[in-house]
Amino acid sequence: MSYFVCPHCQHEIDIFSRGGAEKTASQFQVAFLGNVQLDPDIRKSSDSGKPTVLEGEDSPHAKALYEFARRVISRVADIKANAPEGVIQIQ
Ligand SMILES: [Zn+2]
Repeated sequence: MSYFVCPHCQHEIDIFSRGGAEKTASQFQVAFLGNVQLDPDIRKSSDSGKPTVLEGEDSPHAKALYEFARRVISRVADIKANAPEGVIQIQ
């Protein structure tokens, strides 16, 4: 979670400062996986037992989460492809 969009004027508010996660990922030479908006609707749907991702990939709320998941899948595939034989096994 990184930024909040004001429901009144749609202005993006950087709650944790912009770019901090990207900078830290770069410092530690790890992949930056993305920004996810702080959104009360995500909290509400999660609390009700209906995770936002069940709205589908076209949902504006779920889109960033799907993109995040794709980056994780891609990163795991890269790690697997570059790991020495027998060190990592992903089914
Ligand atoms: Zn506003």
